[in-house]
Amino acid sequence: MKRHGPDFQKQTRPLAPCGRCRGQGVVKGLFYEMPCEGCHGSGFVDAATGERLEIEELVLQLGRSLRLERQQAANRSAQAGAERDYRGGSGRHGLRGHWTGD
Ligand SMILES: [Zn+2]
Repeated sequence: MKRHGPDFQKQTRPLAPCGRCRGQGVVKGLFYEMPCEGCHGSGFVDAATGERLEIEELVLQLGRSLRLERQQAANRSAQAGAERDYRGGSGRHGLRGHWTGD
């Protein structure tokens, strides 16, 4: 397996919530919550296989979907002609997608 090839352009893989932790990223131990081993604590697994991704792949995919998410959020607010005070650093993130997965 070559890992450091020029073919860094990996496919975007659909992610699905982890079945073990139900997408929470943690599982309940006896006294406290522990990172879910089924998904590296990310809450996501490969939608195609249901298996956890390798760490590198996971980071890649999560980063990708996060960027996409933020991009879409930015587009939405731009289309709505909403607040342009994004760079003001007002410290309010209330409208951002927050994956509590309830
Ligand atoms: Zn999990």
